[in-house]
Amino acid sequence: MLLPAAPVLPRVARAWKIPLKLDGATGVALTFDDGPHPEGTPAVLEILADAGTHATFFLVGEQVQRRPAVAARIAAAGHTIALHCDRHRLQLRLSRAQLEDDLRRAAAAIEDATSATPRWHRPPYGIYSVSGLEAARAAGLRPLLWSGWGKDWRRFTTPARIAARATRELSGGDVILLHDADFYSSRGSHRKTAEALPTIMRELSRRDLATVLPV
Ligand SMILES: [Zn+2]
Repeated sequence: MLLPAAPVLPRVARAWKIPLKLDGATGVALTFDDGPHPEGTPAVLEILADAGTHATFFLVGEQVQRRPAVAARIAAAGHTIALHCDRHRLQLRLSRAQLEDDLRRAAAAIEDATSATPRWHRPPYGIYSVSGLEAARAAGLRPLLWSGWGKDWRRFTTPARIAARATRELSGGDVILLHDADFYSSRGSHRKTAEALPTIMRELSRRDLATVLPV
């Protein structure tokens, strides 16, 4: 059962029809997982607003419930609201009923806070189980993983390394994974991500790559 390897094996993702990139897009999608976070999310929102750029936020239901106002701010600023999970657990350990329950709870929390209905889904760690993928599709959600990342969750990384890694070999349609929260990664990691973000966006414009949202 190779499906869990989809984030690192493009042929597996293709076989299960899980996009790593946005087909036909000429720009690059910035995506942020694990929020909302009381410091990380506002910091990222401010940088995106200054640049006039929009991104996609894969929200965690239990974090949305703790700070619905921050989730509402993301939506109010015109960013795409997407669904990560309710609790940040590896799908492989969960039953179909648990997976469905997790999706339902997350969707309800997100919709209550933002009035937005998420259309895109990315599981914790980017790892789908067969049941998890089926449950997401049955709930009307479209899976989206990523084609580039900053590895910004790592304890000993730096903003410069995050930016360099995230912008390595970029082309149209690429989806970059970043995190605006440190709930499930090393402590304070969101500060390095926020520090890396202006460099990432400068690099995109240097290469004439616009930022795009999944449609
Ligand atoms: Zn996550």
